[in-house]
Amino acid sequence: MKKSRIIELEKLIAYHKERYYGGHAEISDEAFDALELELKDLDPGNPFLVQVGFSNASVEKVSHQRRMLSLDKTYDEEELRKWIGTESVLSVFKIDGSSCSIVYEEGRLVLAKTRGDGSLGENITQKAIYIPDLPKAIPYSGTVEVRGEVYCVEKNFFALSKEMQELTLDAPTSKRNIVAGLLGRKENIQLCRYLSFKAFDLICDAKIVKEHQKLEFLKELGFDIPEFSLHGPGADLGPRITEAREFLGTGDYLIDGLVFVYDDIKLHQELGETSHHPRYKLAFKFAGETKSTKITGIEWGVSRNGRLTPVATIEPTLLSGATIGRVTLHNFGLVQSFRLKIGDTIEIIRSGEVIPKFLGVVEAASGDFTYPLTCPSCSAHLRIEDIWLLCENETCPSKVKDQILNYVQKVNIEDISEKRLEEMISKGLVKHIPDLYRLTKDDILLLEKVKEKLATKMYENIQKTRRQPLAQFISAVGVEGVSVAKSEKIIAHGHNTLAKIMGLTVEELVSIDGFAEKSSEAIIGSLRSKVPLMEELLAVGVVVAADEVSTGEGPLKGMKFCITGELELPRAQVEKLIKQSGGVIASVSKNLTFLVTNEVDGTSSKFIKAKALGIPIINEHELQRMLKG
Ligand SMILES: [Zn+2]
Repeated sequence: MKKSRIIELEKLIAYHKERYYGGHAEISDEAFDALELELKDLDPGNPFLVQVGFSNASVEKVSHQRRMLSLDKTYDEEELRKWIGTESVLSVFKIDGSSCSIVYEEGRLVLAKTRGDGSLGENITQKAIYIPDLPKAIPYSGTVEVRGEVYCVEKNFFALSKEMQELTLDAPTSKRNIVAGLLGRKENIQLCRYLSFKAFDLICDAKIVKEHQKLEFLKELGFDIPEFSLHGPGADLGPRITEAREFLGTGDYLIDGLVFVYDDIKLHQELGETSHHPRYKLAFKFAGETKSTKITGIEWGVSRNGRLTPVATIEPTLLSGATIGRVTLHNFGLVQSFRLKIGDTIEIIRSGEVIPKFLGVVEAASGDFTYPLTCPSCSAHLRIEDIWLLCENETCPSKVKDQILNYVQKVNIEDISEKRLEEMISKGLVKHIPDLYRLTKDDILLLEKVKEKLATKMYENIQKTRRQPLAQFISAVGVEGVSVAKSEKIIAHGHNTLAKIMGLTVEELVSIDGFAEKSSEAIIGSLRSKVPLMEELLAVGVVVAADEVSTGEGPLKGMKFCITGELELPRAQVEKLIKQSGGVIASVSKNLTFLVTNEVDGTSSKFIKAKALGIPIINEHELQRMLKG
């Protein structure tokens, strides 16, 4: 009785603390004090007993029963492949936060500690209690230690930075060191409520034989876990590495690579550990060179959703073999958080082919930051929403142009460049996306330097895009938050027709791995707002092909195929065979595994693009052999 009441009180206290600091208090201060008093009475040393307000925490060293080792790392794909050998491996994004260990006894959180030097960490229990998605109680009896990463998502970072400025604390100067900074604080530890936690390891008596089952078990216990991929022996890791690189540039928290682990836990025991790292885990890191440079200007562009995107022009800087003159600053929130202005010296990073990224301020210039009050494209008054400056004018020329340009690029209409599109818009030929399909050859001839032959070609190029795969269509109409890869994931879960996609609910989306509740709500909201556009496109004759769902299993598992030119079998039948064998039909990108064609020296755009990207090209017979395994 007593114990269950303690757990209940801990939950209530953690919940109300979170509501209180989030500005949504549900009970009075007195009622809250009463909860604390009751808990103090039942369990005087309980870690949940911290004063409300500007609470203080002491710094105490605690030891790790089992050492928290570092990871061995490589920057080389070849070395990674050698290490994997013929084993099945699991990969997760390597979050750039702080590794921590959380100990539960009889289902209750009793101790949280930082990694420290691996043997000795700092007690951060009182701070960990503020982390909203870290469970304070779990359905597990006995002792269990959960290890994971404390990190800060972009949106929380901006709110945190704002609150720190309001509290007249020094605002964070870098996204990188904010987590360790917060966990090391002695005052204002309630700021830790802006942190998040993902669990990736556990030490307990439960019989778990596969690494992926460990993650699934952590999820069942109520932990947020990193999205993982399982790679069978000899699987192509290229798409996964590309996905991580893309996340590095656009994701909502910092990562610096991927962690690979052998899936078979028996192997972990056989291989063991060195004094520095386990032999069954390897970090694949993206080499990133950083440099300092000065901001010489900040330009604000308008994207297709009306959001203003700031780009800093910088003093030309040589970084990883290229001279960089511009760095994206992502959004208003970032400019505001770091109070960025001309003359600031900033640190930037470039990893592989990824566009350079802003890391932090090295030295701020004097004066305060400024931002536009009206849209640079249409002069409409701008609204601040969260981390965004928004132009809400539906006919804003920049916004409209970006929407059409996104469509043109995603469906791959050749010969319509950004410049030509601008001309089409200024001549009133195209006002929004469906107008592309209303263009006649005579309309196109009105463009400068376009003669009969080119006009015919452009007209045909547009007509060719009337038939589209579902995943491509979703991303072309500009649904927010879904890349083609994410669309394919949704489709693979049975939502394989446009009608099903249009009727998708938040609940259905959340049930798919890798879709969090918040982002799912945003995706569904954006999807709903695109329904009129989608319907108009169907009305002008665009046909969206229903997608056969890949089985996900078979000899072609994890491979992506694109077909071009005439085949002996009907194309639809070949596509079906690929999907039945676990493969996926995709467009040409660097993620493609094979281009299938019987042409030897093709002239189609798919052929040329695949060749330029170095994608292996196979013919129908070679595909047939692969289908037979
Ligand atoms: Zn505007």
